[in-house]
Amino acid sequence: MSSTDNTDNTENTRIVLVVQCAQVTDQVCPGCLCEHAFTARTGGFTRYHGMENIRYNAFSCGGCPGRPVLRKLINYKRNLKKRENLSPDVVTVHLSSCITKSNHHGPRCPHIDYIKRQVGETGFRCVEDSRISAKSEEHRQAGRYS
Ligand code: SF4
Ligand code: SF4
Repeated sequence: MSSTDNTDNTENTRIVLVVQCAQVTDQVCPGCLCEHAFTARTGGFTRYHGMENIRYNAFSCGGCPGRPVLRKLINYKRNLKKRENLSPDVVTVHLSSCITKSNHHGPRCPHIDYIKRQVGETGFRCVEDSRISAKSEEHRQAGRYS
């Protein structure tokens, strides 16, 4: 998808915030593959092809059921306004693929709708997916993950 045929209003994005599953990132993943996918504009970041100067930040959901997401995002929003006078519509929150998809770490997050509602309360837009592993896609299509 190019920035011109964007259908989810992410064409205004100047800041990408990735929310990661705490069960994965607190123990195993430093988030580097998501950052790499963002830089290469692959997976859930394909929509940003041709769009430069987008900032990137990532943080964990804080653990089930993801209650800290709202507090973290409110804090982010407050600082965005106070320090840069930027409105929420420049921010797109990506729920990472370890939240949105079943994979070898576990199933799709059972609290995803709750997390989306929290993002919605902040006025930030919310989309699914970050890095998408080709191997995991193969396993999903073969029905190897629940
Ligand atoms: S709430 Fe979802 S994303 Fe967060 S730790 Fe639990 S399973 Fe992972
Ligand atoms: S999607 Fe993969 S690389 Fe990104 S935070 Fe989750 S486990 Fe790490």
